[in-house]
Amino acid sequence: MHEKGLPEDPPWRSWWSKATFLGSCWASLLILLCLEGAVFYLVEPRLARIDHLLLLAVGAAMVSFFFVPFVGLSLITATALTGIDLLCPRAVTSITIAVLFSIAPTLAQLLGIERNRLRTSFVKVNNALTRAQWRRIRGDRVVVLLPHCLQIDVCNRKLTTDVNNCLRCGKCPVGRLLELGDKYGLHLEVVNGGTLARRRVAAFRPSGIIAVACERDLTFGIQDVHPVPVYGVINDRPNGPCVNTCVDMDMVEEAIKFFKRPS
Ligand code: SF4
Repeated sequence: MHEKGLPEDPPWRSWWSKATFLGSCWASLLILLCLEGAVFYLVEPRLARIDHLLLLAVGAAMVSFFFVPFVGLSLITATALTGIDLLCPRAVTSITIAVLFSIAPTLAQLLGIERNRLRTSFVKVNNALTRAQWRRIRGDRVVVLLPHCLQIDVCNRKLTTDVNNCLRCGKCPVGRLLELGDKYGLHLEVVNGGTLARRRVAAFRPSGIIAVACERDLTFGIQDVHPVPVYGVINDRPNGPCVNTCVDMDMVEEAIKFFKRPS
């Protein structure tokens, strides 16, 4: 399915970009199964000697601990690859995110997968899940979260207290993003970290978020605000991390068009 407002990559490229993260999650699930199997093999004789009901209860708990993330990851994978919204029931996908999304980065690191490659893949998967949910997302309360490093370092306007302090002088991307915000009637915030971002999200209670940030901040931020749908746009860092960063305006506008599509 091709969702409204956002052009799709060719299928093979789109699938490949998500494969790193999804593959790490499936490998994590396999490791979880092996660990559970080993633990059960070791404790089973002792539990059987104590009480057969206890053995059954422990066995059932272990099966559920594997089965719930298995179902959740199957739904996430199918939704991310096909664009068909299968992300129900929410509890299952939430548990999956909590369990596997914490194991996968460690596993990827052990396998020598570069961190930002995994995070980029995670953002792509997340964006695919957000796009698939387009029927369920109201476009009337969308916030755009911008990192303060988009502001040029010689500018002394205090944007984290009020983004309207920007004079739109054109020396950095913030002014042009504010113009985009005006064009589409969007609420914009400039934040200097996860704490302020969480505070602004809690205060505004958005139905959707467009977040511009580096791979690391997006990965943590998307998990922090779950289940609010986030469309992540990774920034460009021609001057190194956290200094005078840039963003592809077309990608931001495409994300805005997705959330502000006519229903
Ligand atoms: S557009 Fe100009 S005033 Fe606004 S943040 Fe950038 S440099 Fe400062």
